[in-house]
Parts: sequence; structure tokens; C-alpha cells
Amino acid sequence: MSASIVELWTARFGRSKARRRGLTVRERWAGLAVVVVVLALAGPASAAGGTLLRPPVSTLEPGQFQVVSVPLDVNVVLVGLDPGTGVRQLDVSRFLSALPSQSMPQIRDPAFYGITRDLGLHFTYRYHVTVASQPFDDAFFSFLARDGREGPPTLFQRLYDRQRAARRQIHSNLMIDAVDTERWLGQHSASIGVDTRRYTLLLINWYGRRDFRDHLYNKPGEPDPDTGISDALNDFGPGDAWGGTPADDPERPLGSLRRIWFYDTSAAVAGVDASWNLDDPAPSGGSPVSYRIPPIWEYGTTTGYRPFDDLTGDLAKIARYVAVDMLFTPSPLYDPSLGAAQLPSKINVELTGLSDLPGQQATDLVQGSIVADKLAEAEPYNQITYQAKARVLTGEELAVYTCFHSIFFTAGGTSCYNNPLDPSGFDDLNFWISDHLTSEFIDGRPDFDIPVALYDVPDRLGTGDFLGNTNDDLQTGLQTNITSWSSPGTVEREKPIDFPTPGDMTFTPGTGDRFTVAHAPATFDPAIGSDLHLGDDDSAEVQLPFGFPFLGTTYTSIFVNSNGSITLGAPDPHDTGRYLYQLASGPPRIAPLYTDLNPDAAGSVNAAVHAGSVVVTWSGVPQYGEPSSNTFQVILTADGGITFAYGRLSWPFGTIGVSAGNDHGPTTEVDFGRGDPSGLRAGTIFARYPQGTTLGPTHIVTHEVGHFIGLSHPHDGFDWETGVDFVPQGPFYFAWVGDYTDTVMSYLTQQTDFSQFDRDALNRDMTSVYINTSNSVLGDIYATGNAGLAATQIQSADREAAHAIADLQSLDYEPAARSGKAAYLDVLAAAAKVGVAPVAALHAGRNGQSATSSSRRVHHDGVKDLSALANASP
Ligand SMILES: [Zn+2]
Repeated sequence: MSASIVELWTARFGRSKARRRGLTVRERWAGLAVVVVVLALAGPASAAGGTLLRPPVSTLEPGQFQVVSVPLDVNVVLVGLDPGTGVRQLDVSRFLSALPSQSMPQIRDPAFYGITRDLGLHFTYRYHVTVASQPFDDAFFSFLARDGREGPPTLFQRLYDRQRAARRQIHSNLMIDAVDTERWLGQHSASIGVDTRRYTLLLINWYGRRDFRDHLYNKPGEPDPDTGISDALNDFGPGDAWGGTPADDPERPLGSLRRIWFYDTSAAVAGVDASWNLDDPAPSGGSPVSYRIPPIWEYGTTTGYRPFDDLTGDLAKIARYVAVDMLFTPSPLYDPSLGAAQLPSKINVELTGLSDLPGQQATDLVQGSIVADKLAEAEPYNQITYQAKARVLTGEELAVYTCFHSIFFTAGGTSCYNNPLDPSGFDDLNFWISDHLTSEFIDGRPDFDIPVALYDVPDRLGTGDFLGNTNDDLQTGLQTNITSWSSPGTVEREKPIDFPTPGDMTFTPGTGDRFTVAHAPATFDPAIGSDLHLGDDDSAEVQLPFGFPFLGTTYTSIFVNSNGSITLGAPDPHDTGRYLYQLASGPPRIAPLYTDLNPDAAGSVNAAVHAGSVVVTWSGVPQYGEPSSNTFQVILTADGGITFAYGRLSWPFGTIGVSAGNDHGPTTEVDFGRGDPSGLRAGTIFARYPQGTTLGPTHIVTHEVGHFIGLSHPHDGFDWETGVDFVPQGPFYFAWVGDYTDTVMSYLTQQTDFSQFDRDALNRDMTSVYINTSNSVLGDIYATGNAGLAATQIQSADREAAHAIADLQSLDYEPAARSGKAAYLDVLAAAAKVGVAPVAALHAGRNGQSATSSSRRVHHDGVKDLSALANASP
């Protein structure tokens, strides 16, 4: 695998364990080949005509790489949290000493190739600690109690209750609206002297007060635009932190400009950051220890996976790495200048949809106007468009794709595309696109195209939970293009079982390999026989005293699998029935409800063997990771008859059917809602009731475009003082908590926009890009000796640059970017006047270095560890 970040849409999305094991979105980042022009320093000025040859500038630095100083005030507000040195108090001076005093954002992806790229901004932080007043605390906690809704504990709260080290039990949960809370804090903080238009971290503790209630924060009201699903409504969405909502968020606006992120040490427990797990050093297994931060009442506990004895140190980690490094002043993943030789005013997201599904246009999967609207929120000073074209995935393109797919899940594959930069083959599509499709993408109309290839393929060619990737050039860390993948099994809307339950379904064999499928009245047999003691993803063989005929073979035993199916001739304990190919290509199968059921958690799987029949029952078995109870049975008779008898199903999702297996015969989808079909040939006869995937292609493309224009995730980042680029694993596992931020760059799906923090970062970064690109072009202009011809334009540019820097220092970031752009446009006009081609040096920074192999190796290790990380969820 080549260098660059591999990302995982982990755990929390997937209810199936395949996703939790890290078969999730893998992304990387990269860029078009860019001509790097050697920076020309300003030419010698003539002594006599100096002013004419070199019009004086006071802000811009022609030919130089300029670093802008940005002093930044950061508020830290303690709400219900006592300062002091007690085990549950915050030692303020020690806390402050652990925070960074300064930083310079770096473009992160080039660093994976050993290339250091300063962005040209230098932050110095001034921290202001405020302890909220008693009336503020009282009003706030009373607000929480009013806003919240009482409900049962979440899955993770129940898992917490089972931790050996847990000091308390969580019997109920108050679900509090995260945006309402952020708004309340924004509206009321002025009363304690805190200006929340400045970056503000609120550290909250409700525990220990008489009015304390167990609680979590979630954010309903912003579902995925394609699937309609929101994590706010499942166990993964609710968390212990929130912030970054823009004033004008189209779905859940904050109303006023704020820069708030709050972390509640008494909200317990979140799923995303595994803070529920007190016992296991590394829930994913192996090493290193996954560093998690427990609820405040656990401080003083010494029986957990580590002693919880340093609240101050833990909150300082949250403040430093999450709030300051990832949210308030993040380092961009990719170059916000896009590596463009000239900075564009028009940016076009150009999507080519390649479909291998008959009659389907891949472009129909993405709502392009949403992608363009969201991107326009991030770069309001540029014109954003979206174009899409669809075609059939065929010929050599299909061959390259198929080859890529064959090695996709295989570690250490071999490139089918003879790609010397990435022998593993993961980048075959990336290079195919660069070599064959780029000229098609770049149609010359807009200034800059962001190339997106969307592959729309059948499940057998699907990429599981790898949903999107922003690729780089594998050499300099420049972004090249975006690939994303969709298949029916990975992106679909929820469709619960729509026939009445309790009720029966019969599969009656006819002549040859034909079946008649029929509804029948409920006949659930309460004599369910003996417990097979199946665990999760388990299988047991049951001997029959009769021969059971199925598609030409007679079987004297069956394999009962935990996951709602019976197989013949071989067990199949695999953990998911989401993908049709497993049904069609596995062993011969009879599936009353093929889905990821877990009898380890509750219920049982039983068999009652009679002289001429066998009854197999799943009794009260939950879906893996879901609080559900599902009861159903299958009855096989000596004449080959098959009956599915459904009792109560609270997880009405899965695949129902029979299959000859081994890819034998035709595949026929039936609709039980439309009468009873007869004479169906096996192969595979099935009905699918998909649970739906939380993230649709519109979200994925928006997220990838966010990377392409520079944005990092809110769960990985760069710490300048220590030089550490971190991902949420091992000692930085707690960084997952950053996903509780209102950004589409999070892995949660209750956020469809770019956050206030994203907007701030891009505006600041682009201000520096505009100023430094101006400096580079000005260097060329001055080198001609004729700069005086454009003195008016140059002085105008200089004034705009001064405005930009002043705006930057007063937190007026969007005006700063607009002034920076105005300066750049003036410089372009000056270049035209003087006759200089306005091709800027790559925005390289002054300490650009060539690659070293050691840093690549470090990153390789990171890739491997990241794959393991997804195991960390339950
Ligand atoms: Zn991503």
C-alpha cells in the first residue's frame, strides 16, 4: 500500500461486523500533475529608478514566502467543573501548561512523502479561563433537564453497565438536543464575560449536583440526503460533545456566529470514542493501548484498563488535540490552492458515473446541486458548479475495475496496471483516471475541475464499506482525483419487511428445480426443542432421522447458523447476509431471516427433531449491536417442504429465500407484497429487506470534495509543537470525540454541511494562499524590471493584502479571504500589464524538502494500524 492516509468509516455506521472490522471507506488524497515553476526572486532594482522599477509595498513581500502572524484568543470555560487539585477537579495551571502556545499549520499529505509544506500562518494562542458562576451553572443544568427527553439507556450505556470497573449503573437516559445546547451556551456566555465569537471550549460537569441526570447529546433534523437516515436516531449518534454549527446551517442553524465546542465529562457514554469500555486495554485486540477518557465519576477508579487518575491531563488532551489542533486551527490535508498554476475563480465538480448495472445511470445516485451548495458554503468567494455525465462501465475500463476489485480486499496485491508507485494495485483506478480520463474531465469551461469517478457496480463487484477516496499523485502529496463506489448492497434505502408478521411463508418444491412461494396463516410451533448453544457467528450440525430432499440432493443433516439461515453440506457462520453474492455463492441455503443475529447477547437457537420433520427456532435473538428481539422458525419436512413461521420481529431486515448455492442457476428476486409466485426456478429465489446504509453517495462525494479542497477530518490532525500527525488510534484513540462536530467531514451521518470551524480554516488558509501566490507572481513581475508599469495595480494589491491580514487578525475570516483574492486579482492585472505569465510557484513554503524514505515507512505502519482500529467498536 502506498503512502497517504487510509480512512475508515468505522464502526458506528455499520450494524454489521464486516463494517466494524474496517471494511469501511478507505480514502486517500492526491492531485493533478502540476508544473512547478522555480521561484524567481525579485530582480535587482536600479538605484536611480528604484521606485519605478520596484513600486514600494508595505504588506506584500514580492518573491518571498510570507508567514502571517495570527494571535488567537481561546476561551476555556468551566461549567460545573471545579478548579483545584482534587481527583475530579481541574488543576488550571497544569492544564494550561499542557496546551500549545503556538502552531503553524502544515499541509499534511505531502508530509507523508517527506515534504514539509508550511501554510504561511503562525498562530500564537492566548488562553482565557473562566469559571462559570453558580447562577450560570444552575440555569444551564436546568436548561438541560428541560430540553432533554427521558428514554431507555442506549446500547453503549448498557455495555458500560457490564464493565467490571464501572462505578455506577445507567438506568435511563436523558437525550438532549446538541444544537439547542450549543445555542444556549452561545446566548448566555456573555453573562459570564465570555465572547463566544472567539474560539471557546466549554468543559462541562453535571455529575455531583442534586439535579444530575444521566444524559447524552444528539442532533436530529439533518438526515442523509439520499438515505434519509440519521445517526441521531441510532445508538452511534448520541455523544458527549458538540459544536461548530454555522449560524446559517440550512437544516439546523445556530442563528448567530459562534465558535463553540463543548465537552461534557458527565455525559456518558458515547459509542464513537469507546468511552463506555473501561476494562479492555485495546477493544480491538493487540497493542497499543487505545487511550480513552471515561466519565468524570470514574476518576479515582484504579481497576479499569488503566488507572483513571488524571482528569486534568485527560481534559488537556481533549483541549490540545481535539479543540485546538483539529477544530479551531486545523492543518489541511491537501493544498487548499488545489495545486493549480493559477488560482481558480470557478470550481467545477465534474463527476463521471460509470455503471455496470443494466439500465442504470450512475449519475442519478448523486444530488449534484447539494454537493455544489455545500461546497459554496465553504468557498463563498468562488463560483461553484457541478457537472455529471454517465456511461456504461465496459471494455478496458471494466477490465481495470475488475482487476482492481479482485485485489481490493487482499493485502499485498499486485497492480494490474503496472503501477510502479503502488505495486499493491490500490491506486490502479487513480492512475487509470489520471492517464485516460483527465482530459475528458478537464473540459476547459470552468477554471478548475475536481474530477470524481463514481463506479456503480453489482454487489459482486462492490467494495463493501469503502465508499470513497481522494487520491494523490503518490509522489508529492498533491490531490489528483476522487473515486467513489456504490453497489445495491452498500447504498440503499431502508425497506423493512412488509408482509404481516406473525405469519408464514412456504416454499413448496414442484417439478425439477422449481418452487412455489406462498403466504400462509401463522403456525408457529411452541415446542422448540433443545438449545443448540450457538454463539455469535456460529454454526451447529443437526442430524436428521429422515432424508431431506433439496434441489436433487438428499441430506441427512443440516447446519444451523446463528445468522438466520440453514445451510446444507457445509456450515456458513459468516456474519452478514447483506450481500446477495453470499446467498448466491455460498453453500445451498434455506434462509428465513439471513442477517447478523447474535444469540450470544440474548435468546437462543433451538432444534426439535421429529420422525419426518425438523423445526429450527431462533427465539428472542437480537440483531448484532441492536436492542432487538426476533423470533421465527423454519420447518423442513421429509417431502422437501419448507415453511418459514414468523413470530415477533423487532429487527425487520434481512434476506429471505432459498438458494442452490455455488452460483448455480438463475437469481430471482420476489416481492412478497405482490401475490404468491409459482414455478420459480432455483438458483436463488429471494426477497431482500435492506436495513439501509446511513451514508449515500451525495454525502460521500461532498465529504471527498471537502478533502480535495483541503479539509481534514475532525478526528485526525497535526500537532505542530510536537510534530506529530495523529489518527484516532492508540494513544490518540480519544480523538474520535471530534466527530461530534457539525461537519460533513465527520464519520457520523447527522451532519451534511461544513462546520464553522471548516469555513474558518479554509478562509484563513485561502487568505495565505492568495497572499503568497501574489508574492510569487510579483517576484516575476519585479524581475522584469518593468514593475513600474503596473504600479497602480501593485499598490492596490498591497492595500488589499493589508486589509486581508487585518481581517485575519480580527477573526473576520471570510472578508480576509475576499480581500486576499482581490489582492491576487490585482496582481494578475499587473502581470498582464507587464507581460508576465501569472504562473505561480507551487505554494510550497520556504522549507519544502525532498522526500525521505523513513517518513514513508512510518506512514505505512499507520495504515496497518488503522485497519485494526475499526475492531475497537463492539
Ligand atoms: Zn474522509
